[in-house]
Amino acid sequence: MPDLRPTPEETSDEDTRAGTGVDTYAPRMQGLMQDYPLTLPHLFGRAEKLFPKKEVVTSVPGGVERYTYGDWADRTRRLGGVLDVLGVSDGGRVATFAWNSARHLELYFGIPCTGRVLHTLNIRLFSEQIQYIVRHAEDEAIFVDRSLLALLWPLVGSDDFKNVWHIVVMDDGKGDIPDDSRILLYEDLLAEATPVEFEVRDENRAAAMAYTSGTTGNPKGVVYSHRSTVLHTMAALTADLLGVSERDVILPVVPMFHANAWGLAHAAVAAGSKLVMPGADLSGANLVNLIESERVTVAAGVPTIWMGVLPLLDGRDVSSLRAIPCGGSAVPKALSEGFRQKIGLPILQAWGMTETSPLASSGHIKSYMAEGRTEEELADIRAMQGLPAPLVDARIVEQGTLDELPWDGETTGELQVRGPWIASEYYRDDRSAESFTDDGWLRTGDVAAISDEGYIRLTDRTKDVIKSGGEWISSVELENEIMGHPKVAEAAVIGVPHAKWSERPLACVVVRPGEELSKEELLDYLGTRVAKWWLPDDVLFIDEVPKTSVGKFSKKTLRESYGSYVLPTDQSS
Ligand code: ADP
Repeated sequence: MPDLRPTPEETSDEDTRAGTGVDTYAPRMQGLMQDYPLTLPHLFGRAEKLFPKKEVVTSVPGGVERYTYGDWADRTRRLGGVLDVLGVSDGGRVATFAWNSARHLELYFGIPCTGRVLHTLNIRLFSEQIQYIVRHAEDEAIFVDRSLLALLWPLVGSDDFKNVWHIVVMDDGKGDIPDDSRILLYEDLLAEATPVEFEVRDENRAAAMAYTSGTTGNPKGVVYSHRSTVLHTMAALTADLLGVSERDVILPVVPMFHANAWGLAHAAVAAGSKLVMPGADLSGANLVNLIESERVTVAAGVPTIWMGVLPLLDGRDVSSLRAIPCGGSAVPKALSEGFRQKIGLPILQAWGMTETSPLASSGHIKSYMAEGRTEEELADIRAMQGLPAPLVDARIVEQGTLDELPWDGETTGELQVRGPWIASEYYRDDRSAESFTDDGWLRTGDVAAISDEGYIRLTDRTKDVIKSGGEWISSVELENEIMGHPKVAEAAVIGVPHAKWSERPLACVVVRPGEELSKEELLDYLGTRVAKWWLPDDVLFIDEVPKTSVGKFSKKTLRESYGSYVLPTDQSS
């Protein structure tokens, strides 16, 4: 445990009562509260003691598997015993390659509560990235869902996996299991294991790590401490962030292998909420079924997930829902409004990054701001990324400087954040210097304006901005407007070179199946919604917007394909 008490020098340091005119000096007074470590065994023990009857439900092919937090706690303690038997070192990294399931929740706690480090591998990364990550983190064992083994197994023989001693397979119903001595079966190991006591005294020890893919270079490792995870969990419980409570039934559609399932797995355990895990089936149909049958109150996922769910809501009873947190990429206003119109509940936008644990802001509307505003105006507020979370500081600065820009809702600059669950550096990576400022803030790589009310509005990624004649055009805002057109399924806007304006926007648009849309019709529609000089110089109709390994629009790929596209407006050609 860190000793936070002042050093003898600090205690003898004396405070002047500046400005009081009193010429006496007093020793600096310290608080007299207990120095209780903020570690995960506390959250685990709380669920074990207080909520053993609450359920954790996992969707499996053909139905659901149910058990209680009581069962979970027993199995998680046994898992601790398994890690001892496997000889995983103190502080050793144990990777998971798994869907959201009750078993994954056992690993989420069993690994860090025994002093090891949970390393969630993102199953959607390219194989070279996974190999790099496994080597870089020096994983000692990997726990993999049987249905995902086929994806991982071809990599196991590679040199990058030479540190990995065990592959432990969790049976989720489907997939071949090769006959190989490195493979062990999770259920067999648990059945034979002895439950262990959990204790972690040093709150600054690593609890978990995740690699963020970025768009160039190798992924970068973010290492969460017990303290950062506990504080982030407490934030998720606050009413103005996600407000997770014992009364909630939580469906984390956002993967546990990407950005900690936005803190929902930890928050559910801390609060004693019923959990509903979607397993491998993230189809809209399965999600609507789960929401309806399990009476889900909080369902969280990226915009693509909710685009798949929206058309399936007619005639379904999803009245149990109280919040639909959504982030990872901008939430189109039309999507949020679609939910509001169909089920009376708009989407709750949140913003964050792997580096920010990830919850950093959320889009609740302040009470007095809701008064007297039209639905359209409220939708505009919800389309922003929201207010910084408690304990998170945010600022926007002029690119490449530390000069803070005004919060006027218009001026844009690089968004920077700091706080107790925000990374201070990357794991063994000399690229840290580029991402953290000299005064200790994370450079997010997002471009934003902040309103006078404190609402963050992302306009771009620093590398995606379009600069036309020296003025910024927000590709995100253009995309939002284009995706508001009823005939548009997806749209991404990139900047392409232009002789006169240096860059102009090119819209790459996917039309909904069965619809027809012309460039003129789309530009007419946009004409009433954005400034004239923002209108894309051309519209390309494409079959699909290329996606990154984690399912976000890959503008890099679009730029590679169309970056030298000659715009009809470019007279130099
Ligand atoms: P990766 O880097 O692996 O894609 P992250 O989840 O860490 O994964 O990505 C973080 C980035 O995602 C943010 O910097 C931002 O650009 C984008 N993002 C997250 N939430 C939102 C949101 N609500 N609106 C717009 N962009 C978002």
